[in-house]
Amino acid sequence: MERAIDDSVDECPRCGSNSVTTTIERDTFVYGTGADAAELSALVPVHTCSACRFEYTDAVAEEARHEAVCQHLGILAPRQIVGIRKHYRMTRAEFAGLTRFGEASLARWENGSILQNPANDQFLYLLRFPDNVQRLRERAAGKATAVAEQPQVAERKFAAIDIEQKRLEAKSFALNKSPAA
Ligand SMILES: [Zn+2]
Repeated sequence: MERAIDDSVDECPRCGSNSVTTTIERDTFVYGTGADAAELSALVPVHTCSACRFEYTDAVAEEARHEAVCQHLGILAPRQIVGIRKHYRMTRAEFAGLTRFGEASLARWENGSILQNPANDQFLYLLRFPDNVQRLRERAAGKATAVAEQPQVAERKFAAIDIEQKRLEAKSFALNKSPAA
């Protein structure tokens, strides 16, 4: 038990009493199985009804445990994913349209019902940087291809000229040499 917080609005789900107190406690749990099993912990609000002594946790606790799992796996937590999307003031549909994530998958990552795989997590991480989002917007607008491909075309052209130049040099060298032989 770490600290008590005032939570008079809570109603006991068992007896309906309003005399529910909330304490923040460290909840320890095991994540994974076998060799991958790890003991994780999270600070969760625990509600206690003083009328019937019922103790319970809610969605806030679930979110805190989920966050501990994400931290353990080194991936973004749901509220961080929501934060990235909201930073750009995009709806789920807009964000899904730009990133090509499935809208349903995005919803599941955001509400914590499923963990994004590591590759998608890396992509989400890159989306924290506005210039990367800008690149996707430009790509969607058809501008990115021209910008990205131009230098490559130019390099190839120079390379071709260079080879042609060397071939001419080689030929003239051979021509110069043969009469003397
Ligand atoms: Zn109660």
